[in-house]
Amino acid sequence: TTHGFGTARLRSGRELEDLDGRHLIHPHQSGAQSDRFVMVSGEGSLVRDANGVEYLDASGGGNWLAQVGHGRPELAAALTEQAGRLAYFSCFFNFSNDKAVLLAERLAGLAPAGLDRVFFTCGGSEGVESAIKLARLYHHHRGEPDRTWIISRDLAYHGATYGSGTATGFPLMHRGIGPSLPHVARVSPPYPYRAAQMYGDADPTGFLLRELEETIQRIGPGRVAAMIGEPVMGGGGVLVPPPDYWPRVRDLLTSHGILLIADEVVTAFGRTGAWFDSPGRGMDPDIIVTAKGLTSGYAPLGAVLMRADIAAAVAGDGAYFFHGHTYSGHPLSCAAALANLDVLEGEDLVERARTIGGWLREDLASADGLERVGDVRIEGATAGVELVADRATRTPVMAGAVTAALRDRHQVIVRDYGPTIVLSPPLVIGREQVRRTVRALLDVVSRLDENGAVG
Ligand code: PMP
Repeated sequence: TTHGFGTARLRSGRELEDLDGRHLIHPHQSGAQSDRFVMVSGEGSLVRDANGVEYLDASGGGNWLAQVGHGRPELAAALTEQAGRLAYFSCFFNFSNDKAVLLAERLAGLAPAGLDRVFFTCGGSEGVESAIKLARLYHHHRGEPDRTWIISRDLAYHGATYGSGTATGFPLMHRGIGPSLPHVARVSPPYPYRAAQMYGDADPTGFLLRELEETIQRIGPGRVAAMIGEPVMGGGGVLVPPPDYWPRVRDLLTSHGILLIADEVVTAFGRTGAWFDSPGRGMDPDIIVTAKGLTSGYAPLGAVLMRADIAAAVAGDGAYFFHGHTYSGHPLSCAAALANLDVLEGEDLVERARTIGGWLREDLASADGLERVGDVRIEGATAGVELVADRATRTPVMAGAVTAALRDRHQVIVRDYGPTIVLSPPLVIGREQVRRTVRALLDVVSRLDENGAVG
């Protein structure tokens, strides 16, 4: 197989891999990558690399998306049509374009009640960055300019730009890049499987609420702008909070006049079996950040949804909002999102995510018998399988070798986050494909030793 485009010389798969190693820096690259996988095509839940090897994509394009599946002609047609009509015009000042307007209306209709104002970004990090600025600016315009602090949580993933990266609770993301964004504090995440180790004998929600209250008091309640959190933590390893966590956090924040930002970059648009995940958890956020599933990855796009009074405070009469990006409301991205939402609705894919969750629950039930499986967490079409050296001590085992073995021996693509294997397949994945994924996963995990090597 050879690959090329336009006037470029055709290249073999091996040549592409070699060129990749020579010229491409990969996001979150850790050391020189010894092997590379250059993807060239896909259909439904299958993708093919440049050597013609076919993989079952149980990861959602490697990044928790691809809701409607790869290679959808409807999405390609929407993009082609829009590119031929108007690929770009600015949304700055009083300009906009028809697709951005129509998408904003559509999102206002899908979002939790009251969150009907939309600011478009190119992805999740920009969305979180915007939400942080919006929260600070909201308080500034309302006469509380000292409310600048943002509270986030350890093990949270909010992005890789400066503000979103600071809010992210992985120390490696802060190392070696100089000062982070000031006025960001972090508290503990809800982690029921590790509750005893993290919170001792205390009731987990009680512990977390006390810690949050203490953090707010230490900073000064009148100096906190917002708390940000994923309803279910994705990159932390599909961490599902106790049911009373978000309602109690919301009440505490409200009592101190602090905004709540829901980072739904992973969860929105069906991933956990709902259009938006936060309402079902009693989170009641003031601002919601979305991306990923909004276009299923067919074009880069994020949307920040907010209440009308927040929008009015920053972008109403007498206010200012000096923030924005060239590609905010990009017509191609918005056209892709509209076509994506048509497919999600037309094929009931949000409901289907719950069906997939049922299949995962059925197939993963036998994981219980495996010594290395500590915990299995399933929320809609997402599963986290946390691996341990020893079930009694719950000592974590890093899951990297499992991901590699699944890819190389079974041609199944998953992601690993520390000790947790994450499944996040397209919402069009078939029953038999789920079975194949889980069978392969259980085979590899049954060969995993307590040091994380696969025999
Ligand atoms: N928030 C969450 C919850 C995420 O999972 C991610 C990306 N994985 C981001 C924000 C950042 O989004 P992006 O990579 O599109 O900037």
